[in-house]
Amino acid sequence: MSPTQPLYSVEFFPPKTPEGVAKLRAARAQLKQLAPAFCSVTFGAGGSTREGTLATVLEIRDEGLAAAPHLSCIGGSRSSLRDVLTEYRSHGIRHLVALRGDLPSGMAEAGEFRYASDLVAFIRAETGDWFEIDVAAYPEYHPQARSPQDDLDNFERKVRAGADSAITQYFYNADAYWSFVDACAARGLDLPIVPGIMPIASSSRLARFSDACGAEIPRWIRRKLESYGDDSISVRAFGLDVVTDLCAGLIERGAPGLHFYTLNSASLTSTIWQRLGL
Ligand SMILES: Cc1cc2nc3c(=O)[nH]c(=O)nc-3n(C[C@H](O)[C@H](O)[C@H](O)COP(=O)(O)OP(=O)(O)OC[C@H]3O[C@@H](n4cnc5c(N)ncnc54)[C@H](O)[C@@H]3O)c2cc1C
Repeated sequence: MSPTQPLYSVEFFPPKTPEGVAKLRAARAQLKQLAPAFCSVTFGAGGSTREGTLATVLEIRDEGLAAAPHLSCIGGSRSSLRDVLTEYRSHGIRHLVALRGDLPSGMAEAGEFRYASDLVAFIRAETGDWFEIDVAAYPEYHPQARSPQDDLDNFERKVRAGADSAITQYFYNADAYWSFVDACAARGLDLPIVPGIMPIASSSRLARFSDACGAEIPRWIRRKLESYGDDSISVRAFGLDVVTDLCAGLIERGAPGLHFYTLNSASLTSTIWQRLGL
């Protein structure tokens, strides 16, 4: 079992419209009751959401919750990323999630950073221990990785560059997570690796996300979801059962926490959270 209390956190993306801002505020008001350890806010590759990410983080903090912005480096320059770090520091932000990011297809991979490990090293060189740094982990391996071994080598590289903890890509197969955790432990990487949890709101959206990020939907889950067709009530009910069972098993076996991908909507995350009795 994990020696410390598990931490439960949630992730949002910065909304782009006034309606999106209002929707996220309503979601946060609901999730605040659950007292998450922190709320993270994504950062569009190439800096496309820079202002939105910071504005959302500051609003979350004003509401009395801890907030951690993400920072992605692909397409960025040392000077633009230094500016972002300076801005985060000037607001007293001390926790961030450092990523490579994905440029939209068609955009050249310009920029001075190639991998998240470059960003972690840069943050440490520029700001020492100011920031607590989370990085991404892929229990089912990153889709661009040459091999599982290679992906683990690369994960180890960014941890050794100075990451404090990791949050995983979502998965529905707990064995993949534990196998990844064991492989990291065998390399002497003893940082917390927090499972990323994706509640299931829609079969088509989940299939689209999973194709893009390389997260596997096990055949039995996919077939069941397909069988519900447009019956969104059954999709959500089945998804709640599957994801709650996954979370309960992870916590019982000693996962250091859970990080919920809320997609700016509170209902599924808070139902799972309540069912787990967190
Ligand atoms: C928890 C979480 C939060 C996320 N938040 C955001 C966000 O806010 N904004 C966003 O744009 N994206 C976000 N993403 C998506 C992420 O940016 C993509 O998955 C991206 O493709 C990889 O980012 P990374 O930081 O894991 O990259 P890296 O760790 O750099 O790995 C990317 C690929 O490069 C390989 N690699 C790494 N180092 C080397 C090396 N030295 N030599 C050769 N190959 C190497 C790895 O094996 C892997 O295949 C998030 C993902 C997760 C899991």
